[in-house]
Amino acid sequence: MQFRDTDYRIEDIHLFRDITDDNRKSIADIIKDCIVVRARTGQVVLDANSSGAKLFIVLKGALGVTRVTENTNQLENTITQYLPGECVGEISVLDEEIHSATIAAISDSELLLIEAETLWRMIDESNGVARNLLQLLSFRIRAANAQIRNRQKVGEFYRQLSMVDGLTGLHNRAWLNAQLPGMVEHARATGAALSIIMVDLDHFKRFNDEYGHLLGDDALQTAAKVLNAGLRPSDFAARYGGEEMMVILPNTTQKAAVGVAQRLCTRLAKTKVFADKHKALPHITGSFGVATLAADQDGNALISAADAALYRAKDNGRNQVAS
Ligand code: GH3
Ligand code: MG
Ligand code: MG
Repeated sequence: MQFRDTDYRIEDIHLFRDITDDNRKSIADIIKDCIVVRARTGQVVLDANSSGAKLFIVLKGALGVTRVTENTNQLENTITQYLPGECVGEISVLDEEIHSATIAAISDSELLLIEAETLWRMIDESNGVARNLLQLLSFRIRAANAQIRNRQKVGEFYRQLSMVDGLTGLHNRAWLNAQLPGMVEHARATGAALSIIMVDLDHFKRFNDEYGHLLGDDALQTAAKVLNAGLRPSDFAARYGGEEMMVILPNTTQKAAVGVAQRLCTRLAKTKVFADKHKALPHITGSFGVATLAADQDGNALISAADAALYRAKDNGRNQVAS
């Protein structure tokens, strides 16, 4: 069964699939009065935020969800496409709300225009049309859910990315600000020990001045690796800022934390920063300040205590641990 002026058949339209012969005749009868409209490439067919209850069935060409780019006012195609046999606008017909997206012709198209009341007549006349519409809606809901899940994944990816320091790969300050209060609270609630080590590279300005900023960056990366490699899986290392790093040691007493700091300090002093494979740069060293959470301290007070210890390590001659 063909439409007037087109070589398109009812059976090819998703909405009218698998319906009984009788039903198909009455649908064909209703469709006779529907008009076929043409849309040129780029022409908007359904406008977002506008009402106008009608449904378009693509007979030829293709439609796509588009958005208008703000600067150029031009239409930009996105991935969602509607090909011959598919329809657009059905949700607004059913709920009488405005269209949620702008849909335009991706190529010169021929569209069967079905007004809202005509669609409701079809639903009344044919169980098949109602069933196909339900299937279509389920499909749309699933697609929307998949899109939400994807966005959540992308959001999580960028959230993670924003918590990692680009140069060293350690957690960054934003991560620290987000995580440390919770760790402090947990330690207070459970009575577990919580220690931190504040690390500051020694005479790092001089290193930069002598060898340049790029090698300074290499040295920073090397130091970060040393810290990371020397920790248990339950410990954390973060770049606090500049050439200062912080190690967080949950369930660790002051004595044990000093031991960890001592080990890291020795390893750092022994590690070479390579300019290239043949020429080794001088070793870098760091000063380490250890603090353990006291009963009356919050996260900031703990950091201040580690800072104070770090300055004692500097004062005492650097490349050493103080607590
Ligand atoms: P001290 O032993 O007292 O800590 O001396 P210092 O020179 O390390 O101390 P200061 O805080 O004066 O200098 C820190 C230097 O670290 C200055 C800055 O150029 C360098 N620095 C901070 N962040 C980076 C970075 O991302 N890359 C490089 N290459 N250098 C950095
Ligand atoms: Mg510093
Ligand atoms: Mg320094």
